[in-house]
Amino acid sequence: MNEPSNSNILNGSALVLNANYAPLTICSLKRAICLVFVDKVDILEQKEQFVHSPSFAMRIPSVIKLKSYLRYNSIEVILTRRNILLRDNHECAYCGKKSGLLTIDHIIPRERGGQNTWENLITACSSCNLMKSNRTPEEAGLALRKRPLKPNRIHYFQQFVNDHTSDWRPYLFMESYS
Ligand SMILES: [Zn+2]
Repeated sequence: MNEPSNSNILNGSALVLNANYAPLTICSLKRAICLVFVDKVDILEQKEQFVHSPSFAMRIPSVIKLKSYLRYNSIEVILTRRNILLRDNHECAYCGKKSGLLTIDHIIPRERGGQNTWENLITACSSCNLMKSNRTPEEAGLALRKRPLKPNRIHYFQQFVNDHTSDWRPYLFMESYS
């Protein structure tokens, strides 16, 4: 089996925890390796693979923790189109369709005072969006499959866990520490 090249391995990302283990952000592996080099972080989880250069080899960090506590006040997930799609699992909130063009729908239409908020914006397929038009779901005869809520930060990070980042799970309360 061929070793993947450095450049492939380094396409992944690392979970960054604050000094108190609160999930803080997700960064590129290159950034994570830099943070290890400047001694800003401790490595909590690492991959089997190594990253090599002519002068060093190190195992690739997967979960890192800041050595000193970072004060921050942006504990809220930023309201963006991408984050709404993530929250809604890329599913139409009305019919559950996952394929095709997905749009962002204002539940209460903007023309009628609907705001740009987590509670008023949902993922909708283009046909549901077109059918709903400038009406409320009730008026259009559409039912929301679930009430849209503001995601919390932990929930936000959980969306990025996949087969390559399964060692993040204990740090995001997705399973017990072993
Ligand atoms: Zn739909």
